[in-house]
Parts: sequence; structure tokens; C-alpha cells
Amino acid sequence: MNGFEFTHRPIDAAALTGSLADPAAGGFAAFEGWVRDHNDGRRVARLEYEAFEELALREGRRIVAEAIRRHGARRAHCVHRLGALEVGELAVWVGVASAHRAEAFAACRQIIDEIKHLVPIWKKEHFDDGDSGWVNCAHCAEAAQAPGFDYSRQIALPEIGAAGQRRLAESAVVVVGAGGLGCAVLAGLAGAGVGTLVIVDHDVVEPANLHRQPLYSTNDIGRPKAGAAASRLAAYNPTIQLRPLPVRLTPANAAGLVAQGDVVVDCSDNFATKFLVNDAAVLAGRPAVLASVYQYEGQLQVVRPDADGSCLRCQWPEATRDGLVGNCAESGVIGPVPAVLGNLQAMEVLKLLLGLPGQLRNELLLVDLLDLSQRRLQAPRAPECKGRCARIAELAAPVPAGTLEVSVSLAEAALQGYRIIDIREPDECLALPMPLPGHEAIPLGQLLDGATRLDPGLRYLLVCSSGRRSLAAAELLRADDQGNVWSLRGGLTVTMRTQNAK
Ligand SMILES: [Zn+2]
Repeated sequence: MNGFEFTHRPIDAAALTGSLADPAAGGFAAFEGWVRDHNDGRRVARLEYEAFEELALREGRRIVAEAIRRHGARRAHCVHRLGALEVGELAVWVGVASAHRAEAFAACRQIIDEIKHLVPIWKKEHFDDGDSGWVNCAHCAEAAQAPGFDYSRQIALPEIGAAGQRRLAESAVVVVGAGGLGCAVLAGLAGAGVGTLVIVDHDVVEPANLHRQPLYSTNDIGRPKAGAAASRLAAYNPTIQLRPLPVRLTPANAAGLVAQGDVVVDCSDNFATKFLVNDAAVLAGRPAVLASVYQYEGQLQVVRPDADGSCLRCQWPEATRDGLVGNCAESGVIGPVPAVLGNLQAMEVLKLLLGLPGQLRNELLLVDLLDLSQRRLQAPRAPECKGRCARIAELAAPVPAGTLEVSVSLAEAALQGYRIIDIREPDECLALPMPLPGHEAIPLGQLLDGATRLDPGLRYLLVCSSGRRSLAAAELLRADDQGNVWSLRGGLTVTMRTQNAK
């Protein structure tokens, strides 16, 4: 028996111990967590556990497998109760069998600590006086006494003090995206003692992330970023609660996820997510701190729907389509740029939570890390924006990409009657010329400015270097009723590679 499970029935510790019996094991360690009759000085009558089961099972199994691997244990198992429990009942059981006692103790300790920090399980306490409330699983009381993390240097700031520190401990922040910006934001907020960090990221750690995402190590490659970031931060500051959610932010879940925090931080690398964060924050009336980076530059914006401030759509009523501006993969990025912008985001979040002066509002801050200049642009509230911000439904139905993309060689495309348009910028065309003559070169901006009308009787194939910009352009032209437009999947890079291979 190796793994993690939930049960709604009483846990039979003796049977579980028996199930781990192993003639090669010389040591066995078990941990039992019981329901106690008090918390924070109040008498507890009974309690309930609830879990985000699918995610919790996945994370629980990973934790048990990782503990077995790291400590060289032979077998390990963890069972957690869900539902209603009485005082004295067994709420969680962990058992580890190993060749020697040291590995059994170490693996058992690691499993129970990580389960408490990382698995999304919530506890509702029913007090003797009839009151009840949800608390983070057995964690708060323990965390408050955890030794080794000392906020005194920060409490020494007169604007913060003990009251400010308490306010941070009671706050929750949702961070969307755990990449270059997200790593800096998460480290800054975890260090400051923000009580709960919800980490939303559906990606896994890749080798090309590491140079700018120092929460991850080479050992994390292939692991979901949300869980890897949470493990690292739990080890860094065990006094805070981490809620890793390895999901993509979608129109369906955005409102629910944003509502989990006092502030939401957008650390994504795409416009669809940024507009989704903006819209969900406006709908929920919660502040959002947004940033993006482009090569050596970055920009920062704080959206304050709770204080009648401007939002992203006050400046850009229509969501910018992805692919029109390069992302990190295409444009390149160097670690300190997202780190600086992420730290600026973390500072704005702390200013919001603590009510500190000088908050960025109705402005865009532009920072250039090459010439070290910064500019503040007015970004006022658009009076007509009210109502326009609530456009989550609009983002829910993007044009299905598959129908707009074709995979052909340029020669085949020409034979099939496509008019080929190279939408790259002139310097890109010089650096990597089209392998075929007979195409038109119309840079993206010119193609989309409305002055260029395509002939409705022809079929067009748009080509860029990776296929991202051409797909975005095709979507926009289709939406603008310029029908016969397709995008070359994979762009020139793929076409050239195929040609060279022949
Ligand atoms: Zn607005």
C-alpha cells in the first residue's frame, strides 16, 4: 500500500499498520492527528473537513511518492478523514515502513508537514458556544508558533507595526501565473507574511524557465509549477498557507478564483488572461495588480474597482489578441527584468493590504531597465467603461484555432491557389528571407490598420516566423468580415526546417 486517500468513515489505524507490514522493514513510524477539544482558547464541540478532492488526491499522492523516494523508505500511506468528526476521532493517519528507523521518522514527518501545508483541505470548527467557522487545516494555530521566521525588521517600520503584520497574516492574495513575474511576487509576499497565497498556474517547469524563475530547480523539471512553487515557499516560510491550483484561468473559473483573495495579481504572459483577470476583478470589486514585460521594459498598472479607479478596458476597450505582440518565448527576456517588475507588483500589493500611501492609481508606470528611465502615463477612468468591463462571456468563445490554420509547404500552398502574405516586419524579412518568390509582404500593423482590403474572391495564407502572429491576424480579419484568410501553422520556422530536411 503506497499512496494517499480520503475516507468518510472512521480510520482503522490497526488495519492500516497491518497493511504496511513488510518483512524487509526494520522500522515503522506512524503519525496520528486527532480532533482536539480547543482552538485559540475556545472549546471545540466537533468539526468538519472538506477538500478540493481531485487536486488534493493528486498532490497527496505526489507528496507520499516524493517522501518515499527522498528518504529511501519502503512503503508509506496516508489517509485523511472528510466530513463530520467528533472530538477524539482520528482525522489523519500516516504510516511509513523502511529498513531503518531514521528513514521512517523522516519520511513520516515530511509527509504530514507537506500534507498540512500543500493539500487543499479545509476545516470547519463548531464551537461550544454554537459559533462555527472555516479555518485552514490545523495550520493556523501551529503556524503562529512556528519558530525561525521573524518579522521584526518589517514590524519596525512605523507604518507597519504589529497591527500591520497581523493584517498581512489575515490576508489572502491570488497570484495568476508562477513564471518570471510570479516567482518574484510570490517570494516577496511569502517573505512579508501574507497569510494565504493562492497559486494559479497550469504549466509545468521547463528547462528554459529556470534562468528567470528562481523558485524552481533542475529537479523540478516536468513538475507542475503551482505545486513546485508551493513546496519551495512552504520550506521558505512555514508560517503561511499555500494553495496551489494547477489549473488554467478560464472564463468559467475566473470569478471563483479571484474571489479567494483580497487582491489578485496578474503575472501571466498573455493578453487573454490579463483581460480575464481585469474583468473578474472588476466584477468582484477587488483590486488587481497587473504587470507585463517586453524585452528590457516593463509596465505596471493597479486596477481599483473598489475605489472607482480605471481598469484595463478603460484604455483598451477591446481585449488585445494574443500573438500581436511578442511574448517571452519569441522576444527574449532576461531574469532581472521580470524580477524587478514582480517586486514592484509585490510592493503595490503590500501597500494595498496595509493601506500605505503612494499607491499607483489611474496611471501606468513604464520602466526601462536598459536606460533606467521610468515614466508615468495618465490612465484615467473612462466614464463609458462601466458595464463594458464585464465581458467575461466574450472571452469564453475564441475563434477555434484549428479551423484557421493550415499545414502545407509554401510551394504546395501556391499550387493550391493561396495568395501568400508575409506579415513580418521588414528587418525580420531581411534576416530570414522567404524561401519562395511570388508572395506579398505586408507587415502586420499595415494589414490590420483597415486601409488594406483583401480581395474577397481570393484565398490568402498569412505567414510569420512562428505562426502565432499570423493566427492572431487571421482571427482579427475573420472577425472583421474579411473571410478568406488562413494562417500557416508553425510559421516560416517550421516550413524552413521541413525544407532543409528534404
Ligand atoms: Zn474600465
